[in-house]
Amino acid sequence: MVQKVLTVVGARPQFIKAAAVSRAIAACPGLVEVMVHTGQHFDPSMSDVFFNELGIPAVGHNLDIHGGGHGQMTGRMLEAIEQTILEEKPDWLLVYGDTNSTLAGALAAAKLHIPVAHVEAGLRSFNRAMPEEINRVLTDHVSHLLFCPTGSAVSNLAREGIATGVHLVGDVMFDATIDAVRRAGDNPTILGRLGLTRGAYVVATVHRAENTDTEESLEAVLSVLKDKARSMPVVLPLHPRTRQVASRFGLDFDALTVIDPVGYLDMAALLGHCAEVMTDSGGLQKEAYFHRKPCTTLRGETEWVETITCGWNRLWRGPDYAPRRDIAEYGDGHAAEKIVEIMLAAAGVA
Ligand code: UDP
Repeated sequence: MVQKVLTVVGARPQFIKAAAVSRAIAACPGLVEVMVHTGQHFDPSMSDVFFNELGIPAVGHNLDIHGGGHGQMTGRMLEAIEQTILEEKPDWLLVYGDTNSTLAGALAAAKLHIPVAHVEAGLRSFNRAMPEEINRVLTDHVSHLLFCPTGSAVSNLAREGIATGVHLVGDVMFDATIDAVRRAGDNPTILGRLGLTRGAYVVATVHRAENTDTEESLEAVLSVLKDKARSMPVVLPLHPRTRQVASRFGLDFDALTVIDPVGYLDMAALLGHCAEVMTDSGGLQKEAYFHRKPCTTLRGETEWVETITCGWNRLWRGPDYAPRRDIAEYGDGHAAEKIVEIMLAAAGVA
């Protein structure tokens, strides 16, 4: 019997992760996928570009929910996803990462006794002030299948008493990077468009609440990037939220090469040819490593601890890089296939 998977996505990194897993689902006759887009990220440069470029299945339900406070947004999503589940009657609900869309999807399904599969389970920053940390912890605790990208994620779950349904599969973002490098080819037109020289620019992103919630924190992070721009161009594909708050605080981006958010293939090209990465993004810290570029994380801690211990990443206010070695985590680029096999086996289909 074919099992129906209802996938709930809403934010940029989820589209990228879902692209990898959706391809594996499409190749599997035992599963059929229906895509729900909550609407959390709705700007075309934060959403449509990924669906178009990465061949993500067409959205079956667009809930068009965005804006408002965390509680309001999550509450509205919870209600709409519950209705969608009642309509679609899926066998699984699949969620990714740590956004409000992740938590709303997981909670709606758990209450209706639909088993939840969580990709990127077990990550912890141990900083409960981060909205993402609350979302990940709660999602993990209502999930039936917990797909961990790293051994430390498995250990984090064990410490919280979660051992059943936990699978170390590797990182689907590694799968996504391999695919993007193949699709992007070696013709990085974006470098020409921006007047950049290979190996002589920095890629930066800033969007986390801890860096954008107050004028002081945003000014501090921009001033580090501006310092860096004295030695080489700093390209900053600007998150809409960061653009909005900077304008509210009256902060400028002088000296930085500010561009609109780019698609994933342009991002792969930018990362492949840069000198280094400076970011508060979770995904970008690992992608820096996948492209073997040093990273500075513009946060007080990271969930991707192996990037630090293996010398590819450092915290901006922390010690210098540790001695560099390869990271033995993140899998073999086939995390998505493993996820699909495990879901089939768990459904008794395999
Ligand atoms: N990304 C992108 N274009 C951009 C900025 C980021 O394609 O202009 C990709 C990036 O390569 C990574 C993902 O978006 O795969 C990270 O998303 P984000 O930083 O929004 O979320 P986080 O990883 O922090 O959850």
